Amino acid sequence: MAEVLATDIKYVGGVGEVRARLLEREVGVKTIGDLLLRFPYRYIDRTRIWQIGEITEDMESSFVQLRCRVIGKGYQGEGRKQRFTVEVTDSSGSAELIWFNTAKWIDKMVEVGREYMIFGRPSMFRNRLSIAHPDIEAVEQYLSRKQESGFQGIYSTTERLSSMIGTKAMYNIVQRAWQLVASDPSAFADPLPESLRRKNGLISLRDAIYNIHFPQSSEQLRQAQYRLKYDELLGVQLTIQARRSERKERGNGFLFPRVGNAFNTFYREKLPFALTGAQQRVIKEIRADMISGKQMNRLLQGDVGSGKTMVAFMSMLLAVDNGFQACIMAPTEILARQHFASMIHFAEGIGVKVAILTGSSKAKERKASLSGIASGEVDILIGTHALIEDRVQFANLGYVVIDEQHRFGVEQRAKLWTKNLQPPHILVMTATPIPRTLAMTLYGDLEVSVIDELPPGRQPIRTYHYYDSARLKMFGFLRQEIAKGRQVYVVYPLIKESEKMDYKDLYDGFESLSRDFPLPQYRITACHGKMRPEDKDAAMMEFKRGEAHILVATSVIEVGVDVPNATVMVIESAERFGLSQLHQLRGRVGRGGEQSYCILMSGEKLSKESRQRLEAMCSTNDGFELSELDLKLRGAGDIHGTQQSGEAFELNIANLATDSQILSLTRDDAIAILDADPRLERAENFALRALREKHYKRERIDFSDIS
Ligand code: ADP
Ligand code: MG
Repeated sequence: MAEVLATDIKYVGGVGEVRARLLEREVGVKTIGDLLLRFPYRYIDRTRIWQIGEITEDMESSFVQLRCRVIGKGYQGEGRKQRFTVEVTDSSGSAELIWFNTAKWIDKMVEVGREYMIFGRPSMFRNRLSIAHPDIEAVEQYLSRKQESGFQGIYSTTERLSSMIGTKAMYNIVQRAWQLVASDPSAFADPLPESLRRKNGLISLRDAIYNIHFPQSSEQLRQAQYRLKYDELLGVQLTIQARRSERKERGNGFLFPRVGNAFNTFYREKLPFALTGAQQRVIKEIRADMISGKQMNRLLQGDVGSGKTMVAFMSMLLAVDNGFQACIMAPTEILARQHFASMIHFAEGIGVKVAILTGSSKAKERKASLSGIASGEVDILIGTHALIEDRVQFANLGYVVIDEQHRFGVEQRAKLWTKNLQPPHILVMTATPIPRTLAMTLYGDLEVSVIDELPPGRQPIRTYHYYDSARLKMFGFLRQEIAKGRQVYVVYPLIKESEKMDYKDLYDGFESLSRDFPLPQYRITACHGKMRPEDKDAAMMEFKRGEAHILVATSVIEVGVDVPNATVMVIESAERFGLSQLHQLRGRVGRGGEQSYCILMSGEKLSKESRQRLEAMCSTNDGFELSELDLKLRGAGDIHGTQQSGEAFELNIANLATDSQILSLTRDDAIAILDADPRLERAENFALRALREKHYKRERIDFSDIS
């Protein structure tokens, strides 16, 4: 690194010891390099002067610049509550500027009758504009100063930091830091080969760093952002793609060349329906991997109800036909039992032995399963994470399917992999549709299959949003459906899923439903995470067998339960669920031939974002569309499941939600670079190594890599 970049921040003019310490403590900035690599998170157009009358409530979070005359000033309140206020006007209206605590110097500076430039965040109170702690400067002074740039960068800050270094002061510090860098051409040397820059029309790194801080125009800013995002995402892709090609080079995958008796007999005689085109395609993709000699690491995405289980089962038969064992790991007891029930039925009469092992397996079941697995007598093992206990020894495990991947911790998955000397083929199935951009980053080194087609005959679920005040109407609707012989889910959110659980909503809801849907006409049952597994199972089975009309539950039913006769999903306090969770829950209905409904209940007062979520749910059934929207609304970090994805990214400037085009570009470029120079040994590629690990933190185990 150029020496100047490693220089202590305290040597920058206007910083000094005290501010340097504060910068380090509050935002981790120690050197000039640190400072210049913190980019503004927004810019304000300093050339734009607003009229007071133009400012509306929805501008509250943005900055504005006004040119106003002071018509009055004074102190209000007493002691610690004291405020200093300045009354200003322009030709369109008047506004109030407020300073809390010490404002003596402002009082001294501001003269009634004079004109000032005022810069800050507007807020509206009783239809009146006020600005707290604005930057304020006499107009003459403003005009005499040469404007450095049309745009002024705003840097993220903390309360402590901003009380000592305001937006303008921070900007000035960055400017002085740049002046030191400007005289050292070795700072921010370009890591990209010239050819790559030319191909993609990228400006130099040095220009990009300058322009990200001091853009003269929005076009310059765009170019700077583009270049810096490119570098960041290229670094991520170089890491991921290198790993992927390494894995592909290793020729250590089991070979399953035979399509034998089990598969063929099942396919000809037992398959209960025709496979959809998408199911057929995915089975072919899996089969191609299984005869490639490479270990398969495949992610299967398919919306709820798209028929992933059948794909899992048939691909497991391929392993069995080649003399190997297969296992499928489900996230919950209920799901494991459900898979077991259907698979044992599928496997009847085709010479395939299926066993189950879960945390609540009774001693007898456990013993039988364990010995059958160890001897090789059991072909397919179904279970929960009990499968990864050390005691479970497979005779020859060749294939692992993980259902509903996001529910598993990375370490748990990793453990399963290591049960073999030679890694089994792996299929990770998820019903959480992961947006393409995220899949390319998080699972960039996994192959991805998609089931993008639902089995025929499904009617789209109709989704409605009701306010709590329309509850009686909703009850009326439930009675109608129950009278037709259908069943209903009513789901309550948990406030805290992990710690001490809060079931108040669920219990209150259960009670009130019991009053409106009394025995003996109606039967209601409840199911939630805190119940003992046996009780949970019993409740679920009661509902599954059609003995209960209403199942009151927390989101434990989110994954996988299959009750085709249930046609209504009521989601209480729907505004408290994330989009993908809402979509998962909705997927519990619409599994039979009947028209199904999803009813989202909410309070009257909704944030803009909650409203958008509920509206989106009502307007589309497409999980991918919803997941893209979710990513936009919440940002990548919050997306359900990504926390457990095993990869942690620290993206400084790129945004997975909006930069998909750059992401694809860097992916293609990374693949091309690595194809030509797998270890980045060529002189022109050498500097790329630095990019690689920069923004890419691997704190957690990468599950695709453990093999
Ligand atoms: P998911 O992908 O959510 O795990 P499932 O595998 O549970 O979906 O399938 C949902 C339902 O659709 C099941 O009842 C299953 O038997 C049925 N199903 C799966 N594939 C087909 C198909 N090709 N034709 C008709 N029904 C199907
Ligand atoms: Mg499933």
